[in-house]
This record gives sequence, C-alpha cells and structure tokens, in this order.
Amino acid sequence: MICKFCGSEAFRKSGITRKKQRYFCKSCGRNQVVGDNREKHSKMEKYAAVVTRIMD
Ligand SMILES: [Zn+2]
Repeated sequence: MICKFCGSEAFRKSGITRKKQRYFCKSCGRNQVVGDNREKHSKMEKYAAVVTRIMD
C-alpha cells in the first residue's frame, strides 16, 4: 500500500480499529486504515486481509 498523504510505502502496523488494520506511516507519521475510504472491497483485498491476519 501507499500512503495517501505522502506516497511513502514505509509502514508499520499500528493496531486494529473498527476491525480493520491500522498502519502508521514512518515517513509522515500519520495513521491510516486500509479499506477505510468506502471503496468497494474486492475479493483480492479480502484475501490479503486474511493473509495479513495469519502472518501477524
Ligand atoms: Zn505518509
């Protein structure tokens, strides 16, 4: 994923909010949540979320 604020790809996980993974951008210091922008959720995104949970 890419930071919607600064375009960086340097993230670390920053906890779970509303059942979604929150990430902290190491570049600009902002938090953001994957899939929190009301876009349609593709099957691929759901799959990725499951994989992330398993790897966590
Ligand atoms: Zn950023």
